[in-house]
Amino acid sequence: MNKMDFLLASNNKKKLGELQRILSPLGINIVTAKMLGKELEEVVEDGTTFEENARIKAVAGMKAFNMPTIADDSGLCVDYLDGAPGIFSARFSGEHGNDEKNNDLLLEKLESVPEEKRDAHYVCAVCCVFPDGKEITVRGECHGKIGFERDGNEGFGYDPLFIINGRTFGNYTSEEKDKISHRGKALRELAKELEKII
Ligand code: IMP
Repeated sequence: MNKMDFLLASNNKKKLGELQRILSPLGINIVTAKMLGKELEEVVEDGTTFEENARIKAVAGMKAFNMPTIADDSGLCVDYLDGAPGIFSARFSGEHGNDEKNNDLLLEKLESVPEEKRDAHYVCAVCCVFPDGKEITVRGECHGKIGFERDGNEGFGYDPLFIINGRTFGNYTSEEKDKISHRGKALRELAKELEKII
């Protein structure tokens, strides 16, 4: 089978592996800018939705590399906080990517909020754009609750606090998480859509 190269507009190794597992049966080979010996330019993610931010990253990658490009954007939406931190999940506490501080702040904001009001969901939007103008955008969600304390060391981000089916994602293996996660769902949806057009 002749493999088609798609760029992943991210340097996250975990995302690369997951995308490769899900899309390689379609004859798609995922590469990163690094694998092509280049740098991925930083883009300003100034969209107001996960979908807009995923598209901004995908379009920037496609224009820079002139190849089909996939990008994602994800985050946690907490009902009691009217959907926050949402698209600002990575920098909820002010410092980009500081999971410890982000989780501390989330616990603080939900202090004394009872279990029945701690509903939350993860969202993942994935956008794929082609040099000929074709575009696909898909979304996956994963619904659970925010716990009262951290539990488990697996995963990343808010996983030690995110409870689904009685345990936090901090206690799921990555294979178990992929099956029900927002990202797993969005990527499988993307695979279905890509199958129709390639
Ligand atoms: P990004 O889409 O990779 O920029 O992720 C945005 C932020 O959302 C991450 O830094 C995490 O704080 C949060 N997030 C997204 N997906 C997950 C997940 O599966 N587990 C835990 N946190 C997540």
